[in-house]
Amino acid sequence: MKVLVAGAGIGGLCLAQGLVRAGVDVRVFEREDAADSRYQGFRIGLDAPGLDALRHCLPPRLHGLLEAVTGPLAGERRVVDEQLNELRRLGPTDGGTAADRHVLRQLLLAGLEDRVEFGRAVVGYKERADGRVAARLSDGGTVLGDLLVGADGVGSAVRRQLLPGAGVVALPGDSLLGRTPMTERLAALVPGAGTLVRGAGVSLLIGRMEFRRSPRLAAAELAPEVRLPDTGSYLRWVVMLPAPLTGEPGSPEPTDWTGVRDRLLTLIDGWHPDLVELVRQSDVGNSSPLTIRYAEPVPHWGTGPVTLLGDAIHPMPPSAGQGANTAFRDAELLCRSLTAVHRGEAELTAAVEEYELQMLDRGFAAVADSLARLPEFAPAR
Ligand SMILES: Cc1cc2nc3c(=O)[nH]c(=O)nc-3n(C[C@H](O)[C@H](O)[C@H](O)COP(=O)(O)OP(=O)(O)OC[C@H]3O[C@@H](n4cnc5c(N)ncnc54)[C@H](O)[C@@H]3O)c2cc1C
Repeated sequence: MKVLVAGAGIGGLCLAQGLVRAGVDVRVFEREDAADSRYQGFRIGLDAPGLDALRHCLPPRLHGLLEAVTGPLAGERRVVDEQLNELRRLGPTDGGTAADRHVLRQLLLAGLEDRVEFGRAVVGYKERADGRVAARLSDGGTVLGDLLVGADGVGSAVRRQLLPGAGVVALPGDSLLGRTPMTERLAALVPGAGTLVRGAGVSLLIGRMEFRRSPRLAAAELAPEVRLPDTGSYLRWVVMLPAPLTGEPGSPEPTDWTGVRDRLLTLIDGWHPDLVELVRQSDVGNSSPLTIRYAEPVPHWGTGPVTLLGDAIHPMPPSAGQGANTAFRDAELLCRSLTAVHRGEAELTAAVEEYELQMLDRGFAAVADSLARLPEFAPAR
C-alpha cells in the first residue's frame, strides 16, 4: 500500500510519522519551498487526547525531546479590562501543554527527510479505473498511490476537488496575531493559562509560550540528528476587532507589520502601559494579520481513494483551542486504520470509511464548540 499526503503541516506530518513507524510506504508533498519559508510560529495549546495522539505517532525516542521543548499550560484563565482590573475568571485549565507550531513542525520532520518533498504542491488528482489515485503536482509531475490524504490546510486543493460545494466561511472583522519576546514585566500579564483583555472595541487574548528548555540546545543533547530552531520564550496574542483595522474609507492599507502595529497602538492609546508595551515590543517577523475561517458541516461522501484530515476538512476558529488537537486525533485514527490494512487485518475502503465517519463527527463537533465560544472573546462595547 502506498499513501500520498498533501501538506507537511502538523497534521500531515503526524500521520506520516505514524505510518513510517508502522512500516507503511508514505510520501508527503508540501507547497512551500522549505519548512521555514514563511512565518509559522505561534503557540498552540494541546489537551491530553491531542498530546496522546501526537505521542502515538511520534517514535518513542523523540518523546523526551517533545516534553523538553513544550511548556506548561495550567491555571486560571482571567478576563480583565484595559487597565488590567480583573472582571471575572473563566475557570482553571489543567493538564494542558503549550507548544510552538514551528518547533513542533521541525520536530515532526525528524527522520522524514527522504519522505517529504518541499516545493511540490498537489494541484488535483484523478481517480483511476483500477481504484488507485494519481495526484497531480504543481511541477507537472504525477504520482500514483492507493490513498491520497488531503492534509493541505484551510485552503485545501484536495477538498476543493473532492467536495466542491463544501463551504468555508471567514469571520467578519479583523484579527491580528502578535508575538512578543517574554520579559519578566510582560510575563506578569499572564499569571495563569491565559488572559483576555476586553477593551472597548478591541479584545486581546494573551497566552504564554514558555519552553521548558531551549529547543536548539535540548535537541543537541537529546536527539542530535534533529535540528530545532533557536526560539526563545514569548507571549502570543490575538486581537479581534469587529471592524477592519484599516479604519476610515480611503486610508491606505498597512502593508507591513510595523504599519499594522502602529494602527493598533493608536486604537489602544490609554490602555495599561504593560499592554501598550506588549504591542510595541512585538516581533516584526512573527506577527501578522490573521484571517479566521471555519467550515460548514458536510455529510459523508462515498469513500474512495481520496480522504481529508485536519484543517483541510474542519477548520475552526481558535476560540476553543481545538484545531491542532483534532488534526492530531485525525492523524492517529487514520494511522491506526491504515496500519490494520497494512497488516492484512482490514480492507482499505472499509478502513478509510470508518475513519471518515468518526473524523467528521468529532471534527464538526469541535467546529460547533469553537463557534459557540466566540462571543466570550468579543470586545466590550
Ligand atoms: C492564532 C491561532 C491559535 C491557535 N491555537 C490553537 C490551540 O491553542 N490549540 C489547537 O489545537 N489549535 C490551535 N490552532 C489551530 C491549529 O494551528 C490548526 O488547526 C492546525 O495547524 C491544523 O493543522 P493542519 O496540518 O491540518 O493544517 P496546517 O498546519 O495549516 O498545514 C497545512 C500544510 O499544507 C500545506 N499546503 C497547502 N496547500 C497545499 C497543496 N495544495 N499541496 C501541498 N501542500 C499544501 C501548507 O503549506 C501547510 O504546510 C490555532 C490557530 C491559530 C491561527
